[in-house]
Amino acid sequence: MVKLLILLFLGSQNFGFCTKLSKKVRTKQGVAVYRCTCADENWSQEASKVKACTYCGPAMPQCGVLQKVLPKKGEKYSIHDYVLPNIACPVDDKETHKSILSKYRGRQIQFCSRKCKRSFTKEPLKFLKNMIIKPEVVGLKFKKSGKASR
Ligand SMILES: [Zn+2]
Ligand SMILES: [Zn+2]
Repeated sequence: MVKLLILLFLGSQNFGFCTKLSKKVRTKQGVAVYRCTCADENWSQEASKVKACTYCGPAMPQCGVLQKVLPKKGEKYSIHDYVLPNIACPVDDKETHKSILSKYRGRQIQFCSRKCKRSFTKEPLKFLKNMIIKPEVVGLKFKKSGKASR
């Protein structure tokens, strides 16, 4: 009986802990792609790190316009973390068609062709890593001026 009570106690503690965590938005890891406006080139870096243009150097922190955020290997994302509807095909990065869809975890993902749709449904995890992530998931945001901030 005592054992049962302890288990119940631990169970309720754990439950409280879990609800606390789920309410707080955890910033996930990701790869941020910025565009250097001086060199007109893109660079990518860890989204959590301070923006540092590889063309101008860290002395130019204002340089770099956030283009997109890509998933980081090893990080887990929910289907709500992806930018949907997706304008780029997750299989070959071509422009998607609104009519070629596949349901994945309750959301519709668009493809450029039926062939790509078939490839995706066979191995969704392989191609999900090509999908663009919402910047707020990694603690970034698009500014109205187009410049990224945190
Ligand atoms: Zn630059
Ligand atoms: Zn495609």
